Amino acid sequence: MLRERVSEDIYVFTSELYAQVTAGLVLTEEGSIVVDTLPFPQESRQLRDFARRISRPNSIRYVINTHFHADHVYGNYLFPEAEIVAQRRTRHLLERWGKPALEEAKMHTPELAEVKIRLPGLLVENELTIRLGEKTFILTHYPGNSADGLGVYVVERKVLFAGDVMMSVPYIVNGDPRQLIHSLQKIRTLQLDALVQGHGPVLLKGEIPDKIALSITYLRTIERLAEQTVARNRPRSALRQIGIEACGIPNITLGGLAQSLHEANLMWLYDKKLQERKERERARANERAENVDTGAVSRGKEEPAPMAT
Ligand SMILES: [Zn+2]
Repeated sequence: MLRERVSEDIYVFTSELYAQVTAGLVLTEEGSIVVDTLPFPQESRQLRDFARRISRPNSIRYVINTHFHADHVYGNYLFPEAEIVAQRRTRHLLERWGKPALEEAKMHTPELAEVKIRLPGLLVENELTIRLGEKTFILTHYPGNSADGLGVYVVERKVLFAGDVMMSVPYIVNGDPRQLIHSLQKIRTLQLDALVQGHGPVLLKGEIPDKIALSITYLRTIERLAEQTVARNRPRSALRQIGIEACGIPNITLGGLAQSLHEANLMWLYDKKLQERKERERARANERAENVDTGAVSRGKEEPAPMAT
């Protein structure tokens, strides 16, 4: 696991075991806050041990989960002293999807045998401000990558932990690309010296606006491509030929994972657009059927059927 210091009292940890997923640690004079807890116990423990060693007093006060995905929450159980904070939906999503997914993952990933889902107790709807020590943390709901995205903005340091709303490759499978664009537009209005992405390198002040713009362009491009492919009755496989570079993102990001995330985005969007088209067609067919019915009634009124003799 890699550790870097993005300001005097903020550390970022990047997994070497899983997709460059990140976690954070912010120190204050009244204890510290951990943001996300990594998927594998080996690295979650390194994060915890470092955090306990360096935090004082009161050690670790809060663990904030940026969303419910496994790679951000599995380590929660290793921080029993901390209150777990997340967006309101995270709790339900973990119970509904996180718990069964973990049981399944344990069957083929022995490293996860000891992991237990620890649910958040303090839930945020749209925004919550936490004051700890001399620092202010503004937690904001940023949906799009998932329904429960939560960003953590450390006001005095102008550092944002964005979770997977910001990744080297925007990822929208089971998410909502328009909500994600909206969340990115909100993030663009923040004063930032550093932005910690859910996966990939920490972005520094000068590069943040460009990366956000690139993500928005990418999301609009892939949505348009999927829409066109469905509208032209072309097969799903036609989208596979469109490389990530053609959508504005270099294929070297996330150590080669980029292309597979990109393909998953395209396939998911294609299915979504196809589904939407079917629903529109069904609605139109229903409308036509209703019109036929109404027409029959009115015609009946205008031209009464001949009386039976
Ligand atoms: Zn993630």
